[in-house]
Amino acid sequence: MKCALVTHADCLEHQPGPRHPESRARLEAVLEALAAGGLARTWQRVDAPRASREQLARVHHADYLDAVERAAPSSGVHALDADTVMSPGSLAAASRAAGAVVHAVDLVMSGRATAAFCATRPPGHHARAGDAMGFCIYGNAAIGVAHALASHGVERVAIADFDVHRGNGTESMFRRDARVLMADSFQHPYYPLGDFPERAGYVPMRLAAGDGAEAFRRHWRDTGLPALRAFRPQLLLVSAGFDAHVEDPLADVRLDASDYRWLTHELRDIAEASAQGRIVSTLEGGYRLDTLGGAVAAHLMALGDCGR
Ligand SMILES: [Zn+2]
Repeated sequence: MKCALVTHADCLEHQPGPRHPESRARLEAVLEALAAGGLARTWQRVDAPRASREQLARVHHADYLDAVERAAPSSGVHALDADTVMSPGSLAAASRAAGAVVHAVDLVMSGRATAAFCATRPPGHHARAGDAMGFCIYGNAAIGVAHALASHGVERVAIADFDVHRGNGTESMFRRDARVLMADSFQHPYYPLGDFPERAGYVPMRLAAGDGAEAFRRHWRDTGLPALRAFRPQLLLVSAGFDAHVEDPLADVRLDASDYRWLTHELRDIAEASAQGRIVSTLEGGYRLDTLGGAVAAHLMALGDCGR
């Protein structure tokens, strides 16, 4: 297997309500686009396992994990924060979304896949050690990073986050860990508001409302990609959010599918240079249903062009 598409039907059953932008229709749109675009020949579908308590507890506090389990309703919805809601299917969905990244890391670290993409929801990069936030329950990408460090003896893991919102949760989980480098482009000032640290191991790239391909590519070409390259990661994680797309209703950056294809090619080159090509991407945001599938397909076409 060269390329693994890690997903699970349980991820459709997280239902935060009819007016919530983080809907099951997002994942349906992604899976339909991947099936229609001929990517099914390259990307072998793999069922996401549930994450274990031990895997979740590497980045989350035990009392938070207990609280999430207690909050799962048997009917209706329960709000964890202003934007983050649990329905009866949410606990299984969140567990599969985290478990997908763990399994994807296992697949690429063992050589069973070169690249893996986790088509899952809820997203994860805003979740913090002790709090749900911004549609995110578990820190999926962070849980994958922690798994690679703890179970595979990896010494350097990099994270590239191109979701339009800052990956504050992921960033906060590795503040004192020199084994992790995160490069993060985001609209600023924007959600999540507030200060963030200028520190070693974190490479923020601020995009202004109205910025498009030129600024996005310049930031990555001049700042994010050189930092990732110099770090020489042994594994590259990608927090792949597609809400910087020009058509996305949740933000004001103006990218299109070609920008996602460009950056993904650049990230894959870095993975090939120092990580034997090992790259794991996981779905974060992206809320315009009629463009999300095409953007993800562009990402996967670049991600899956393995072994050139
Ligand atoms: Zn986002």
